[in-house]
Amino acid sequence: MIKVYKFGGTSVGSVEKIQAIADRIMSEPNNQHVVVVSAMGHTTDQLVELCSKISTTPEPREYDALISTGENVSAALLSMAIIAKGGKAISLNGSQAGIYTSNGHKRAKIMDVRPDRIQLELNENKVVVVTGFQGVSEFNDVTTIGRGGSDTSAVVLAASLGLKECDIYTDVDGVYTTDPRCVSQAKKLSVVSYDEMLELASMGAQVLHPRAVECAKENGITLHVRSSFSSDEGTRIKELNSMELNRTVTGIALKRDEAKISVVGVADQPGIAGKLFGELGNHNVNIDMIIQSNEQENETNTITFTVSEDDYEDAKKITERVAKELGAGHVVGDTSIAKVSIVGVGMISKPGVAATMFKTLGECGVNIQLITTSEIKVSCAVESGQADVAVQALHDAFELHNAK
Ligand code: ADP
Ligand code: ASP
Ligand code: MG
Repeated sequence: MIKVYKFGGTSVGSVEKIQAIADRIMSEPNNQHVVVVSAMGHTTDQLVELCSKISTTPEPREYDALISTGENVSAALLSMAIIAKGGKAISLNGSQAGIYTSNGHKRAKIMDVRPDRIQLELNENKVVVVTGFQGVSEFNDVTTIGRGGSDTSAVVLAASLGLKECDIYTDVDGVYTTDPRCVSQAKKLSVVSYDEMLELASMGAQVLHPRAVECAKENGITLHVRSSFSSDEGTRIKELNSMELNRTVTGIALKRDEAKISVVGVADQPGIAGKLFGELGNHNVNIDMIIQSNEQENETNTITFTVSEDDYEDAKKITERVAKELGAGHVVGDTSIAKVSIVGVGMISKPGVAATMFKTLGECGVNIQLITTSEIKVSCAVESGQADVAVQALHDAFELHNAK
């Protein structure tokens, strides 16, 4: 049986840990293994920092050429460790593994996966160790698919090999009601639906890359998020029927690196928002939350929106330019914003969930700056210094310490 799984950064963070993974793989000689690895520990962060010492505006191609290298190191080391222990293994980079992406850099999209080489090596009874996070463009350049993207590399490989399961080994033993590093009463969940996991991941729960969840859903692949350091059962992400979805709130996600931009004094006329957000979209800036308020006396509006902190400088420059063209008053920015989201399929049929969230935040003195909702999610932008208090209060209010 072919098995595809992924080990994250902490899991391959030292020579000893890599040796332990090699032992774990070799203890299952009857299976064929495709192992996706992340860069060791904080290597990718260190590469990003190194880059910033040379240039604050690096060529995207060179940026990807640099930050993709961490995965080459861990893949080669794991392959060597297996061979040193008497096994057969080979490391393949994104290109060799047949992971083809769009031509953009930093957040390239995986367009096609052709696992011919992987299949060939598996037929030779080798463990195939693949670099996560990277692919190759049609120009034969190395691309990266977004921070945390190794999860997605594993899931697309599982899909291309026709598998229905993919294990994500990480430094927590499953998906919790919220980040267990932030709330000590957080509870491990045994199952989570694709839709809930997609919202949690997109709203900042780092444990899975959103695109990995999307790809798993599209291909009906059950994800098993589990600990690299034990063989305990973790959390399964899969399609759940309505009987199984009896939780109102399944989890809380926190995204700390948000920023807010307000355009004050824009004319209250048709076409203004279209112009502003059209320009931001043309520059690939992802807008998150939007609010517009009207100032009756002078018939102008204030448009406020959030972006991730990475996009803040670009977004502010573009907004200032558009504001000038529109004859708007001025632009104000604030980078100390965090987003707290509650997620649960059960919300659809239970009224009053958003009200409980707002009331809870109010009672602990947390001011809500912006709100967005979907059918199964409510998000509030708050001052970043208050984010931890907000998450803890919501965890208590929705009694998530009782979750299973
Ligand atoms: P890896 O390097 O294995 O990909 P990550 O650091 O990307 O690991 O993701 C695992 C981390 O995600 C955990 O250490 C935990 O702090 C964080 N996390 C955030 N939200 C959750 C959650 N709801 N459940 C479990 N872990 C979470
Ligand atoms: N090493 C990459 C990162 O740190 C990819 C990953 O770990 O998934 O973002
Ligand atoms: Mg990760």
